Amino acid sequence: MAKKTIKDVNLQNKKTLIRVDFNVPLNKDGSISDDTRITAALPTIEYAISNGAKLILFSHLGRIKTEADKATNSLRPVAQRLSELINKPVTFIPETRGQALEDAVNKLNAGDVLMFENTRFEDLDGNKESKNNPELGKYWASLGEVFVNDAFGTAHRAHASNVGISNNMDVSVAGLLLEKEINFIGGALENPKRPFVAILGGAKVSDKIEVIKNLLKVADKVLIGGGMAFTFLKAQGFEVGKSLVELDKVDLAKELLELANGKIELGSDVVTGKAFDANTETNVRTFDAIPEDEMGLDIGPKTVERFKEIIESAKTVVWNGPQGVFEMEAFANGTLEITKALANLNGKAITIVGGGDSAAAVAKFGLEDKFSHISTGGGASLEYLEGKVLPGVELVDEK
Ligand code: ADP
Ligand code: MG
Repeated sequence: MAKKTIKDVNLQNKKTLIRVDFNVPLNKDGSISDDTRITAALPTIEYAISNGAKLILFSHLGRIKTEADKATNSLRPVAQRLSELINKPVTFIPETRGQALEDAVNKLNAGDVLMFENTRFEDLDGNKESKNNPELGKYWASLGEVFVNDAFGTAHRAHASNVGISNNMDVSVAGLLLEKEINFIGGALENPKRPFVAILGGAKVSDKIEVIKNLLKVADKVLIGGGMAFTFLKAQGFEVGKSLVELDKVDLAKELLELANGKIELGSDVVTGKAFDANTETNVRTFDAIPEDEMGLDIGPKTVERFKEIIESAKTVVWNGPQGVFEMEAFANGTLEITKALANLNGKAITIVGGGDSAAAVAKFGLEDKFSHISTGGGASLEYLEGKVLPGVELVDEK
């Protein structure tokens, strides 16, 4: 089922509520340390401007637990940065409700841009935003005529600023960023071009049980590296030395291996270290020869070759979780090689990266441009990969 996007509605002179994800990282002095989230929303914002909408932008920023948090989590610097990026004034209203906001909304002309204050300022008073207080969602909805959700990062949460507004609006559509997430991640899960290869890694099995289960249902192959591989190796009877292993998940790993019916690939070797240390002595060990006093910190060269062979013929790849401790040079090779193998599929297959550290790895190697899609949501992309219905996606009207 296809979802309506901002391109399916008439925006001319419409007060258009746009929920963006401007939860940017800030420096200690309050300046923005990385504006990726702002630039990611520009296609939607520029589309709305050029189609004559009256833009009302809003987002959360950090967490608001005490009155003092307000000073360090204002959206004011974000409004300023946005104004520079779109080369246009952005009226910033330092309130989340009230006369000043309503007056400013009513003064908007076609193409004007207004931003109001951090939606989580409402959390100081009984978590109204985060608990989806019905009165708050209704109030925000009353400010506009069309609702555009473009905040994928919070799509796994039902808050007043997404679900609450949508519950009180006739028209709720996806912004262009949300549309991209739905098309790529949703598309891969629902109707993938095959062979569909999932690559999983990262630190712990326990973080990703539901992701593994769901991808086992839809993927043709599931490659597992990183720290989580050792719980699976243990389940196969190998000794894993000092490697990261979750003993209480070994039985579950056995079940998953059985359920997988040959779909899971673990490779055959690892790069070990004597300690979790960038300068430790390293060795390549086959799975049956991991010494007691060593720990696996990266996939080994034979595993890299096997994984590359499988990746080469894929038509869809979803990757979540680094293959080793890529933050340390000595254990970055596996993740680098997988990144390169996926970059080589550019133009030949759909390649999707989900997960904060995996996206950071791709960026570290400077190959972002060679991927079809790098998800902008950490928690949201994981829940999407788990096969969950995301409230922020569900609220969007069907075509
Ligand atoms: P993502 O954020 O992409 O979902 P995770 O948060 O699950 O990924 O895992 C990332 C972390 O896993 C990285 O910091 C990396 O150092 C760690 N990691 C990968 N392989 C290993 C390993 N063999 N042993 C310990 N930690 C590992
Ligand atoms: Mg992570």
